[in-house]
Amino acid sequence: MKVLLLFSGGIDSTFLLHELLAKTVGSRKRPNPVKEVVCLSFTYGQPHADKELTAAKAITDKLGVEHLFEKLDFPFLKQDMAGANPVVPNRNMIFLAVAGAIAEVHNCKAINIGCTQSDFETFPDCRPFFLRQMNEAMLLVNSIHIIAPLVGKSKADIVQAGKAHGIDWGETWSCYAPQWQSAKNYQPCGECLACKERAASGV
Ligand SMILES: [Zn+2]
Repeated sequence: MKVLLLFSGGIDSTFLLHELLAKTVGSRKRPNPVKEVVCLSFTYGQPHADKELTAAKAITDKLGVEHLFEKLDFPFLKQDMAGANPVVPNRNMIFLAVAGAIAEVHNCKAINIGCTQSDFETFPDCRPFFLRQMNEAMLLVNSIHIIAPLVGKSKADIVQAGKAHGIDWGETWSCYAPQWQSAKNYQPCGECLACKERAASGV
């Protein structure tokens, strides 16, 4: 089975990529039905795009995975997520809708998204009920499943489970802060929601 993965180069989607590429799944080590993974990253005017997408590309290059980049040019998506409100309205819903079309073109049978328990409170379009309904809609339109295997896991769970894959978390990027604050040697701000969750996870 060929699948598409929404990939930001952060902790969650990097862990999910390693899970999808593993030869076996589950504690009983059944053969992994996923035989090919295509990663999809969006540029949507996010102020942290350069660092995020550079990290994402380095990870897929290292793993030898096909990586697609799609530009979304909507003014309402260009929001500083490190500001008072990290929620970009409908962001994940839009990502999934566009990913459905791209997955169909690339003959992928499912779209994987790395929504976690940690996202539940803040992001309405990462919650299980939304994902189930969106899955139903995408099956009707594209005959493609939406799979979110991390919805029950916290970021700390994921960091712990990632040890089995030998993931170097230093290669991932989480910070939402705009990068024009400092052009070179840019460091995570330590203040935004993503930085705080990352620190709490033990990375
Ligand atoms: Zn930050």
